[in-house]
Amino acid sequence: MNKEEQVLRMTKIVSDFVGHVAKVLPDDVQEKITELANDERNPLAKTIYATMKENMKLAKELSRPSCQDTGVLQYWVRVGANYPLLGELESILRNATYQATQETPLRHNCVETFDEYNTGKNIGTLAPYILWDIVPDRDDVEIFPYMAGGGCSLPGSGKTLMPGEGYEGVAKFVLDLMTSYGLNACPPLLIGVGVATSIDTAALLSKKALMRPVSSVAPNERAAKMEQLLEDGINSLHIGPQGMGGDKCLLGVNIEHGARHPSVISVAVNVGCWNHRRGHMVFDKDGQCTILSHSGVTY
Ligand code: SF4
Repeated sequence: MNKEEQVLRMTKIVSDFVGHVAKVLPDDVQEKITELANDERNPLAKTIYATMKENMKLAKELSRPSCQDTGVLQYWVRVGANYPLLGELESILRNATYQATQETPLRHNCVETFDEYNTGKNIGTLAPYILWDIVPDRDDVEIFPYMAGGGCSLPGSGKTLMPGEGYEGVAKFVLDLMTSYGLNACPPLLIGVGVATSIDTAALLSKKALMRPVSSVAPNERAAKMEQLLEDGINSLHIGPQGMGGDKCLLGVNIEHGARHPSVISVAVNVGCWNHRRGHMVFDKDGQCTILSHSGVTY
């Protein structure tokens, strides 16, 4: 296969997988929703979980997006420096987004800021947004497509805290955000938290945190402890599924962190809703594709 054929093939696979992600939630999210539904004692919350499960079933059976808000496409790309299509990747992801928009179909969600018109293609200036990590000595690429809905993007926020506010300040920031905006994001939620030196690094890390599986634990022991404390604290608010009350309201809390200047600590939050449409695919150097987020899907 020549390079042009490889590019076309990869574009088609990414487009097909984006369409699949729009319709079928990843395994970890499905499992967590089942667990929450089984543990829930509030009758209204149980009914809401049953509706969510029926929604998931019908979306798959009828081959339709599992939420009307198909979001803005974002990709986190972890690519080997020796990956043969590195130079073509950006255009592959843009074209795949447009193709998936036509074929799935996906709602048109890309409005050009200031010019205020919808491109009608789900592509535009910096859309889809691509977050790059270049990995030395690797020749494959991992791609995490993510559909950022309006409601679940709404609580997204960040702040550089005053010296002295410390980790208590981080916890207070996250909890204040959840008590004020959490309801808008269609719980149960996945809370991505970034803690780092400046607001830009914290914000990017909070989005990367949403790419981790919902029941994963931060490798740093103290970060893992904060994940658990925040999860317990937010669940104890009894917001429940869709904010209608219930025992729990979270898929989980994922924290990513980076080193920081000693006199500041920045925190940012990005939120995923119950319809957390995140995929994880890997292409090796020969174009062989493996899907890690959705069992049974092959290309
Ligand atoms: S928050 Fe999620 S489930 Fe709710 S409308 Fe937005 S994308 Fe859909």
